[in-house]
Amino acid sequence: MNLIIFGPPGAGKGTQAGILESKHGLKQLSTGDMLRGEISSDSDLGKKVKDILARGDLVSDDIMIDMISNRIDQDDCAKGFILDGFPRTVAQANALDEMLSKKGKQIDHVILLSVDETALLERIRMRIKQSGQDARADDNEETLKNRLEVYREQTAPVLPYYEEKELIYEIDGMQEIDLVSEEIENLLSR
Ligand code: AMP
Repeated sequence: MNLIIFGPPGAGKGTQAGILESKHGLKQLSTGDMLRGEISSDSDLGKKVKDILARGDLVSDDIMIDMISNRIDQDDCAKGFILDGFPRTVAQANALDEMLSKKGKQIDHVILLSVDETALLERIRMRIKQSGQDARADDNEETLKNRLEVYREQTAPVLPYYEEKELIYEIDGMQEIDLVSEEIENLLSR
C-alpha cells in the first residue's frame, strides 16, 4: 500500500508517517528529511538547497521528482511507502502519477490532516521552544509564515487533483496524536 500524508507545516505529517512506518512496515519517505540530510552532509545538492529551506521556499520540481523516483525504487519501499512532504506542487503530483504508472504502482489513499491556522502557529511556536538549540533552521516565526503562504499558494492546489480521483480522506489534525492515528487505522482497515 502506498500513501500520501498531506497537510500544512506543523499538521503532524511526520509524526503520523512515523507511526505508520512502525505499525505497518511501510517506508516513510520524508523529502524534508532527505533534503536536511543533504545539507548536513554538505553535498553539492545540500549546498544548492540550503538557503531555499532556510527561507521556507520550495526546491525545484525537477530535483524533487528525481529524488523521489530514485528513492521509491529501493528495496525498502517494496512493501509500500508513505510520502511525507511530497507532492507539494501540481507539477509534482502529475509527475508522481506518471512515474508510478511506469513502475506499475499507484497511490491508494491521500490522508489530509486539516488544521486551524491559529492553533497551528501556536503548535509550531511550542516546537521551536522545546527544540531549543536543535531547532530546525526553518522553524522560526518568519519562515513559518512564508511556509504557510507557500502551502496555500503552491501546495493546496494539489488537493483538487486527488479529490477528482476520490483518494482523499480528511482527518482533523488538531486532535490528539492517538486519535489521529486511530482514524488512520480505521481508514486502512476498511
Ligand atoms: P518539511 O520537512 O516537509 O517541512 O520540508 C522542509 C523544506 O524542504 C520545505 O520548506 C521545502 O523548502 C523543502 N521541501 C520538502 N519537500 C519538498 C517538495 N516536495 N518540493 C519542494 N520543496 C520541498
